[in-house]
Amino acid sequence: MTGWIYVISGPSGVGKSTMIRELRSQCEGLGYSVSHTTRSPRADETNGINYHFVDTDIFQKMIHNGAFVEWAKVYDEYYGTSFSGLREQSDQGLDVILDIDSQGAKNIKNHFRESVLIYVLPPSITVLQKRLKERATDDAKTIHARFQKAAKELQNCVWYDYIILNDDLIKAVDELKSIIISHRCRTDRMRPKIKDIIGDKTKS
Ligand code: ADP
Ligand code: 5GP
Repeated sequence: MTGWIYVISGPSGVGKSTMIRELRSQCEGLGYSVSHTTRSPRADETNGINYHFVDTDIFQKMIHNGAFVEWAKVYDEYYGTSFSGLREQSDQGLDVILDIDSQGAKNIKNHFRESVLIYVLPPSITVLQKRLKERATDDAKTIHARFQKAAKELQNCVWYDYIILNDDLIKAVDELKSIIISHRCRTDRMRPKIKDIIGDKTKS
């Protein structure tokens, strides 16, 4: 991988997709890793854009063939990040955003030590529940199941590199953008540029 990997996690309904959409409209050079999943598409989702929607049989074949850098069962469905999807973004010289759960985040960190892990918190559990309900993309049973898992899922935030509180959306996206911009200024990231300017004379 030549680009940087940014993993974004948080409970269902906290605003991850909204923040990522907004971030990508404001910040250049950011690709998105489209995961594979066995869950059914929502009304506003497109195959190949939001997810690659596949059946369990295909997903298990992909696991067997080693197609996934990480995969996990989340809310009783399979989700996975494919090597080929990541490579496709990286080959275009893009940094890659992954919207994946905390099991996936751990696996990505093990595989790519320099990946940056960002957790999105809701202002409160009550607000999270309200957002999940008002999004109105899932039936009542699904919303209930996701909400039940939220409190436990939130405990994972402590081992992430960064935490963003998504209360005011504009502020939250600004914070996300700041993390990415500051990482782009890191010395190790700037080495090719330094070499362009002063040649190979850098002290280590
Ligand atoms: P996730 O991808 O984390 O499951 P979504 O991005 O789908 O969550 O957001 C869930 C709902 O919350 C959507 O209806 C979205 O418009 C809304 N939302 C996201 N961020 C905010 C915010 N800061 N304030 C109010 N509503 C928000
Ligand atoms: P949703 O069904 O709401 O789109 O996503 C449910 C959960 O699955 C979210 O926490 C999301 O971050 C996670 N998720 C989406 N894609 C992947 C993936 O490829 N791997 C893992 N581990 N989790 C994923």
